[in-house]
Amino acid sequence: MRTILFSPPKYLGNFVTINDCCWGIGENAVTPSKLLSIGSYLKEQGDQVRFLDAGMQDMAWGDVWNTLKHHGVDRLLFQVVPQFESWQMIVADMCFRLGIEPYAIGISNDHEKDLLRRTFTSYGLNLPTFDKFPPIDWSLIGDGNKPYHLTYQIADGCPYHCSFCIWSKKEFAMRPPELVIKNLEQITCSEPIYLLCAQITTNKKWLEKFVELKKEYKLDFKYTTDLHCKEVTDEKIEMLVESGCIGAVMGVESTNQDILDKINKGITIDEIENAVLICKKEGLDLAVPFLYNIDPSEDVERDIEFYKQYKSFTPSPGIMKRYPGTQMFEETYSFDHIMEFGTDPVATMPGLDEALKKVKKWEGVLGV
Ligand code: SF4
Repeated sequence: MRTILFSPPKYLGNFVTINDCCWGIGENAVTPSKLLSIGSYLKEQGDQVRFLDAGMQDMAWGDVWNTLKHHGVDRLLFQVVPQFESWQMIVADMCFRLGIEPYAIGISNDHEKDLLRRTFTSYGLNLPTFDKFPPIDWSLIGDGNKPYHLTYQIADGCPYHCSFCIWSKKEFAMRPPELVIKNLEQITCSEPIYLLCAQITTNKKWLEKFVELKKEYKLDFKYTTDLHCKEVTDEKIEMLVESGCIGAVMGVESTNQDILDKINKGITIDEIENAVLICKKEGLDLAVPFLYNIDPSEDVERDIEFYKQYKSFTPSPGIMKRYPGTQMFEETYSFDHIMEFGTDPVATMPGLDEALKKVKKWEGVLGV
């Protein structure tokens, strides 16, 4: 079986992010390590696998068409991105015209799954669980030793249950640290590697082993990652910093306890303060998202005051998006709303104007 792993070109001028990530869609093209893992698995099973990263290579749909047409392909495997039904349909259409079987994987809501099942040869493949994938075969991305910007997924799913996050319903599994090291020792990357997600601090034994092996194998790469403030301790942050972690994102979203409870964040203001102080003490660069359009009671002034109190992290104010498949999506959109406006995660959201004003208030604080 000749299989192409497909990462899409820019769509309407935007990159389509291709990792399963709670960030969803953004101006962000990353190495889709999940697709590469699947490709490595299929290769091990005897497939001839190629990787077509149209986003990174800045290909237009015409280039994709020509590439598919002129390379013998039996099966195309691509990752579904919620809300981007139209590009998925373009891929399916190309495949049918060229006699290629299109397979879809990834996160989507039930409506999209139905659509995909009807449109594609298959939605989903019979794959091992995330922690059982073989090491990534980096040669799949051509100049495999020098990825442009490497995002490497260390975990799938999340043990927390934030109502806005598409990872919260997925079972949490971490790649064994031995496998992470085996994968990363094969590559050189001039930029820091982003070790995505969910929380590198969740499993202390995992972290200890990772740090120990990184040292043993003399891997001196720098990396960034994600933290959960409930799990931040002096010991863990010290380990991170010593092992080359130069920055982390810690999703706080709000400094209003009612809001945190409403989105099922599972953290307290005390825990946020504690984590901020520890990261400051250990010298770890921290980015902290604050999100608006959760609830009218959210208080941007309070968030700004919190930032001013510490000024030890980079605040990242933004709009809370509703992604299909999340609890928050179900709570926000009625069937009638979807029928009338569709489900664009930003443009059709009630309350957007007020939320944008709140984001704008940060401009003065951040000097932008
Ligand atoms: S902590 Fe919450 S937002 Fe972060 S990955 Fe887990 S479920 Fe998603």
